[in-house]
Amino acid sequence: YSNLDPQNQKSEKLSWLDWFLPSNKVELRTKTPWNAPILWEGTFNRTYLEEYYRNNPVTIGLTVFALGKYLDKYLEKFLASADKHFMPGHKVIYYVMVDDHSKLPYIEYGTSRFLKPRVVAKEARWQDVSMMRMKTLTDMLQDFIKDEVDYVFCMDVDMDFRAPYGVETLGELVAQAQAWFMNSPNTAFTYERRPESKAYIEMGQGDFYYHAAVFGGTPSRVLDLVRSCYAGIMEDKKNNIEAVWHDESHLNKYFLEHKPTLILSPEYCWDYKIHAEMEHVKLAWAMKDYAEVRDN
Ligand code: UDP
Ligand code: MN
Repeated sequence: YSNLDPQNQKSEKLSWLDWFLPSNKVELRTKTPWNAPILWEGTFNRTYLEEYYRNNPVTIGLTVFALGKYLDKYLEKFLASADKHFMPGHKVIYYVMVDDHSKLPYIEYGTSRFLKPRVVAKEARWQDVSMMRMKTLTDMLQDFIKDEVDYVFCMDVDMDFRAPYGVETLGELVAQAQAWFMNSPNTAFTYERRPESKAYIEMGQGDFYYHAAVFGGTPSRVLDLVRSCYAGIMEDKKNNIEAVWHDESHLNKYFLEHKPTLILSPEYCWDYKIHAEMEHVKLAWAMKDYAEVRDN
């Protein structure tokens, strides 16, 4: 798919409106039913926000795990692009979890950028690597992240930043709308549908399909989220059931019961396979060869 990537190709730009209203069936949504903003380019004033945060400085944490093949393949580009585009001009602490310290990429970080690497053991199954992030994050948020930052984002590593991803995304409890499901009815969402799982969501319920690749907020709100998802994951393990999309299923259950205060539109986590000419993309999915990165 690399020829679909706009970095490799010049063509006429498609605006998010063209993408979002292809059939005129859906109304452009900039607010949820519970009045949380849905963040799109043009719905905020960056100049005003930057001035506010200049007078009220904040520290933002960014957690990312890169274990096994994900460390070799994705971490350098993720971090280098974050250094350029994630919260430019603000103090950022990167909490980077790796399974091999010697493979940490060397990057010349900008000023007010701090790296806190940590070695964690890699689970054998990729599903467990993904799910057990909730346990590590619970411990780290509790032990020190909560005292070090005002806001924290937790992200997958198989992505890279393309444009400023700034203070407009800060909020108490921030969720990412999964790009592929933005225009789908909730009956099409790939929620966990077996009542035996703690991640179960009844057909017809649900507001968005949230993407586990990005969530954030204040440390206390994110701590409650990861602790609760981890408890659901462990309860499921005890009952010999694994939710269909692992930690993401539990995250969706959590956000059903605890509404996010801010939703990031797919501009904040775009898959260029949907539209190569999407405009205003801040963060994009990496091209991924599943057979190559997954051991089992
Ligand atoms: N991950 C990792 N090593 C692995 C599997 C997963 O570091 O072997 C981490 C990595 O941060 C990755 C995240 O867990 O981005 C979630 O897994 P993945 O991206 O494969 O899930 P998907 O986005 O395909 O649902
Ligand atoms: Mn991913």
